[in-house]
Amino acid sequence: MFGAIEAGGTKFVCAVADEQLVVQDRVRIPTDDPQKCVPQIVQFFQQYQLSGLGVGAFGPIGINPESADYGFVKQTPKPGWSHFDFLGALKTALDCPIYWTTDVNVAAYGELHRGAAQGLHNVVYLTVGTGIGGGIIHDGKVYTAYSHPEVGHIAVRPSADDVPGFKGVCPYHDYCLEGMAAGPAIEARVGVPAATLSKTDAVWDIEAYYLAQAAVDYTLSFAPERIIFGGGVSNQAQLYPLIQASFAVQMNGYVETPPLNEYLVHAGLGDDAGITGALLLAQRVATH
Ligand code: ADP
Ligand code: ZN
Repeated sequence: MFGAIEAGGTKFVCAVADEQLVVQDRVRIPTDDPQKCVPQIVQFFQQYQLSGLGVGAFGPIGINPESADYGFVKQTPKPGWSHFDFLGALKTALDCPIYWTTDVNVAAYGELHRGAAQGLHNVVYLTVGTGIGGGIIHDGKVYTAYSHPEVGHIAVRPSADDVPGFKGVCPYHDYCLEGMAAGPAIEARVGVPAATLSKTDAVWDIEAYYLAQAAVDYTLSFAPERIIFGGGVSNQAQLYPLIQASFAVQMNGYVETPPLNEYLVHAGLGDDAGITGALLLAQRVATH
């Protein structure tokens, strides 16, 4: 059996699957203090004989095997999780190889093999939800370096149509993508949940402008074959033509990309991307 963990801000999803990666059991555990939820996670997996486990964790996390904080959750507002050795706790309790990476990286990997990026090798996956995070696939592999990229916090140039003086809601940066375009940023402008807005609300043009600007930056930085949008906000289908049109204006023909309606697209797996990718990575770590 293979195991998968998708560790999110509100819940942990744990799943086990057979050799064909068909999910056999799955559980949701609320994201509580690690002293409370790690024993529940361990208990779930101890029912099974695992040959590999894939973990996608909310960041920032220590991802560099050379570094002393490898496997740790870094500074986070989530109570009890700052500087917690999550990978160490899993390794102590579960005797199997573990693939350890970020939540967005497992989702990117899932999209690559089973979702909107099948057959491709170089992809950027961006989740636009409570926050914005990105996973990058380079040459078929999850891209990591000194640490994992944090492409949700790149600086953006404000839109002329935006609320005057709005600098975003990121506590770290003014005018960063997450602060300007994640769900809470939309809600800060309009005062109601983003999902309740009309499809023709002017805020979607502003949202599309920022997501397109980010897509231009990722195109210039990584030259991917496709950029995929996941997360709650990405369910707004009217955004895609707006993002594509704004991308064309902002890129201004500087680099060639695939046709924009194939290049800037919605994720294919929805909420299953993370668990699917984590299972695929569990399988990979088991056989390497
Ligand atoms: P999380 O990021 O916490 O895992 P989501 O990806 O669902 O969860 O993101 C939640 C954010 O996305 C909230 O700000 C919410 O208002 C917004 N959101 C969720 N669903 C939609 C939707 N269908 N349309 C627009 N915004 C949405
Ligand atoms: Zn930021």
